Amino acid sequence: MVTPETQRVDIAIVGGGMAGASLALMLSHYCPQLSVVLLEQRPLPDAGASIRLPSFDTRATAIAAGSLELFAGLGLWPQLRDYCAPIEQIQVSDRGRALGLSMRAGQQRASFEGMLGAVIENAALGPILHEALAQTEVQLLAPARVTDVQMGADGAHLRWCGAEKGAESALQAGLLVVADGVNSPLCRQLGIGVDTVQYRQQALVTTVGLQRDHGGVAHERFTDDGPMALLPLPRRDGQHRMALVWTCAEEEAESLCALPESGFIARLQRTFGWRAGRIVRAGSLHSYPLSLSLAREQWRRNLVLVGNCAHFLHPVAGQGFNLTLRDCYGLAQALARSGLAPDSTGRLDLLQDYGRDRQLDQQLTIGFSDRIPPLFASSAPLVRGLRQVGLLGLTLAPPLRASFVGQAAGFGL
Ligand SMILES: Cc1cc2nc3c(=O)[nH]c(=O)nc-3n(C[C@H](O)[C@H](O)[C@H](O)COP(=O)(O)OP(=O)(O)OC[C@H]3O[C@@H](n4cnc5c(N)ncnc54)[C@H](O)[C@@H]3O)c2cc1C
Repeated sequence: MVTPETQRVDIAIVGGGMAGASLALMLSHYCPQLSVVLLEQRPLPDAGASIRLPSFDTRATAIAAGSLELFAGLGLWPQLRDYCAPIEQIQVSDRGRALGLSMRAGQQRASFEGMLGAVIENAALGPILHEALAQTEVQLLAPARVTDVQMGADGAHLRWCGAEKGAESALQAGLLVVADGVNSPLCRQLGIGVDTVQYRQQALVTTVGLQRDHGGVAHERFTDDGPMALLPLPRRDGQHRMALVWTCAEEEAESLCALPESGFIARLQRTFGWRAGRIVRAGSLHSYPLSLSLAREQWRRNLVLVGNCAHFLHPVAGQGFNLTLRDCYGLAQALARSGLAPDSTGRLDLLQDYGRDRQLDQQLTIGFSDRIPPLFASSAPLVRGLRQVGLLGLTLAPPLRASFVGQAAGFGL
């Protein structure tokens, strides 16, 4: 119900994580005529924040070259550059097999400023996105928890509460963007079903210290204990650092977390090998349960889902946020193209066009992330043989390799 106190906006984004914050920046850049409000239930991140949003925790994110280009289009590259470690080479290897695949930035068209991509710690990305947002016209409401959503003929009606207990406010938006993360309560409330495949795996995440410089090499290594990624990070206090994402079975994750630092390092070194040199330190381990979760609907009239609540992927190929950024860009472009009468942001035909445009990229990226882990988890001789042929094929056949790199680098779709 609209009361005199109800605030009216063109677009309301619920969730200020990587997805919501990125979309808000794109809307402010490409659709400046629209009024946009972003609601986040927790305090917003700043450089010294002790409470972090889920997106901006201890993880690091591999940002593909295509995504760096999107950020550069928003004028954010100068702020990001100092916190990014460039990926100049990707080495893919299979434990126990000599054959591997190596891709260098100089050999690929899919690069940004000579890099295949870059890695940034999420705790650095959060303040950069939110400081940039604070310079825009986007209205930031935080802490502001959305407690109720009703869809009506005139758009979405939200109720939200701030830090003060009991006080509720009302908001009406022509377009509601749900960006509240995986297991989204708002999607449940809106009756949007989710198809989920539990991988029964955990991603163990930590920062490791190395004896030597990583040289801008990102490693993707497939082992019988699960795939692992070791990604370059910027040096800190003179230390060489890399971000580890080790995907393993739930029981295995538990036993790895129980190891003392020296035991974990020894185990990691044995499993990963010596491609990055000697591992000398490991930070605290954080684990993330893994699943493939896909919302059955990503748009309705006056409504769009972006980020983890739309698609939550296996992190092995570092595609989740990169795909989300391309979705956000696609949505901002669709809104900008439509010439926008301000009250037409939720038009069904506009959102259908957006959905159609994003379908192929989503299918390819989700399929790519979903099919790699089982292929590389199996120790069955036939599957191992096939993946060797696969790596060999990628090594020897430039067109195949170009499409693999194009997908991994977030270009060409
Ligand atoms: C281990 C791991 C490694 C990864 N590595 C990579 C990588 O290298 N490259 C890559 O591209 N992707 C990667 N990803 C994927 C990436 O992390 C996700 O794409 C990203 O976190 C998406 O964030 P989000 O904003 O959708 O969700 P979230 O981070 O969950 O944000 C949702 C926000 O909504 C807020 N919220 C929730 N409910 C409400 C409410 N009712 N009212 C107001 N606010 C609300 C929450 O507080 C939160 O801040 C990785 C994922 C994992 C698990």
